[in-house]
Amino acid sequence: MYYKKTVKEVFNELDTNERGLSGEEAKKRLKDFGFNSIKPEKAKPLWRLIINQFTDPLIYILLIAAFFTIFIRHHIDTIAILSVVVINAIIGFFQEYKAEKAMQALKKLTTLKAIVVRNCMEERIDSTEIVPGDIIVLTAGNKVPADLRLFEENELEIDESAFTGESIPARKQVNTIKNDNTPIMNQTNMTFMGTIIVNGKGKGVVVKTGERTELGKISLDVKTTEREITPLQKKLKEFSIKIGSISLGLSLTVFFIGILKGLTVSEMILFSISMAVSIIPEGLPIVVTIAMAIGLKKMANKNAIIRRLIAVETLGSCNYICTDKTGTITENQMTVTKAYANGKIYDFTGIGYKPEGNVFLNNSKVKKDDDLNLLLLTGLLCNSAVLYEDNGEWKIDGDPTEGALIVAADKFGINIEKKEFQYKLVDEIPFSSKRQYMATLYKTKDENMLFVKGAPEKILSFSNNIHNFELSKHYLKMAESGLRVLGFGIKKLNIQNKQEVDIESEATHNLEFVGFQGIIDPPRENVIEAIKNTHNAGINVVMLTGDHKITAAAIAKQVGILKDNKLVITGQELDSNNNDFLVRNIENIAVYARVSPEHKFQIIEMLQQKGNIVAVTGDGINDAPALKKANIGVAMGKSGTDVAKEAADMVLKDDNYASIFEAVKVGRI
Ligand code: ADP
Ligand code: MG
Repeated sequence: MYYKKTVKEVFNELDTNERGLSGEEAKKRLKDFGFNSIKPEKAKPLWRLIINQFTDPLIYILLIAAFFTIFIRHHIDTIAILSVVVINAIIGFFQEYKAEKAMQALKKLTTLKAIVVRNCMEERIDSTEIVPGDIIVLTAGNKVPADLRLFEENELEIDESAFTGESIPARKQVNTIKNDNTPIMNQTNMTFMGTIIVNGKGKGVVVKTGERTELGKISLDVKTTEREITPLQKKLKEFSIKIGSISLGLSLTVFFIGILKGLTVSEMILFSISMAVSIIPEGLPIVVTIAMAIGLKKMANKNAIIRRLIAVETLGSCNYICTDKTGTITENQMTVTKAYANGKIYDFTGIGYKPEGNVFLNNSKVKKDDDLNLLLLTGLLCNSAVLYEDNGEWKIDGDPTEGALIVAADKFGINIEKKEFQYKLVDEIPFSSKRQYMATLYKTKDENMLFVKGAPEKILSFSNNIHNFELSKHYLKMAESGLRVLGFGIKKLNIQNKQEVDIESEATHNLEFVGFQGIIDPPRENVIEAIKNTHNAGINVVMLTGDHKITAAAIAKQVGILKDNKLVITGQELDSNNNDFLVRNIENIAVYARVSPEHKFQIIEMLQQKGNIVAVTGDGINDAPALKKANIGVAMGKSGTDVAKEAADMVLKDDNYASIFEAVKVGRI
């Protein structure tokens, strides 16, 4: 029971330490323990797929009808009805089976990666290669790759609903737990394979891998939240009940009339049953299933993977698409193009993560500039992303926004290799969409330094600057051209011991303001056209984003979501306005900016209450609640986080935004 042991005891038992295993040792253990994977058969049992095909009210009625035709010896009818049921089941089964296979293929395609520490170095490896004793770095948005005993954490919260059914994320900690028989739910110093990191970060040592993990032990069919039934399901259900009662009523009436007219009971039973059976539309379920199967196939051709057959139809009937901005409408390929520091406005050249380009001030290359230096250094040190070169291609691990800051600093010759020796990270507040800022505390030779970055209005409100109003003009100007703007601040602390620092209160008061950086995040290819098509089809498209109102409005205008007579509203306005206002104006709102994940959820709910069928598209952890709440959730397959894909009904394999519209078209047939 690892939760009862101290970290030291666990390290000793597994013969490892914070610095990680050596490469050779890991190889040896991989041979002994095998790959860190669970047999895929457990994913969804076949019998469930088969049973699924018969749980439909129309099918129930057909089965009852078949039973009666046996009774009245209409064997041809019996055979006909039963073949309808069987053929329907076979078609439905194969479609869902194929969808399931496609889903598994997708999972393989995007094999989970994990960050391990080996030989003191952080490395990204396939999570199947993890062995007991490995040290794992956990970051928000990813799945926990094995069972771990935690030894470091910062606001770490894990969604363990797959195990515990508890939908509120579990807050983790590192202390030893004394009680025997602590249930999984209360093992707060452990994290388990397959659960999802929704907030914060942490480090843990792998105690169990593969089939020996908790996930492997309980052959667990992952619980999915039951969704509201789709409009077609609803109609079919109503229709079945109607047909059922009409045929029952009619045949009873006919039966009694016949008896009154003096016909024999056995004659009348025969007659009224065969009448009831003939009323039932045996062909309907097949037609519906085939229509959806065709839809599914068409969507598969558009590289959209659907997890449930019925989702095709829901998409066809949706009249609202709520779409996330960053990463969904835009590429999430961030590049700093503008910066502001101490009255000066800088331009950056170069695009993408390739650290090549220069910084210009009034059209001349900047060589030495202390203000710019401090701004870029703050961006580099208040940062958890890693920039690396992979086969000549520059990539980042972590938050793309932070990746852009590393690249910007590098263009001015500041990089982590040079800085690491002077600064040592001692504490941090990780970024979260809700908080909208991040802070790191560094120790230098003779002082402690706090670096803070976040939404510009947040940073200005934390700072002691008296020119805030003037300063805000600069970032608003950047935002107007669609740039994602971050503000930066620092603070010197003369405290020797980290324990004495209340980092949150320090970070949010009396900051020294150092500047802004403006990040370009271009819209994805095809988005403009896809949105135009969607509008033409009579579907409303609204944008939900955590970004600033002005940035959001600029991008929304660019891609055609925001038209002249439409409104942009912020999360703050949502909170302060009464529901009345929202309910009355909801049709006119095209952009919701600076909204938290809870807001997103609330907006979807509101739209649904007004009778709309809502599709939601997204890629991040902050989209998951909305993706789950939607009538149909669509996640980006390539760039999306595990959390988003888990919450969605449909996954776009190649992130092609246009396929959402294609899918809607297919669904409408
Ligand atoms: P979205 O993904 O919808 O654009 P986010 O919740 O990621 O929204 O970001 C909200 C705001 O928080 C951004 O506009 C930006 O100003 C700020 N921000 C984003 N990422 C970071 C980060 N890593 N550190 C600090 N601030 C950030
Ligand atoms: Mg996002």
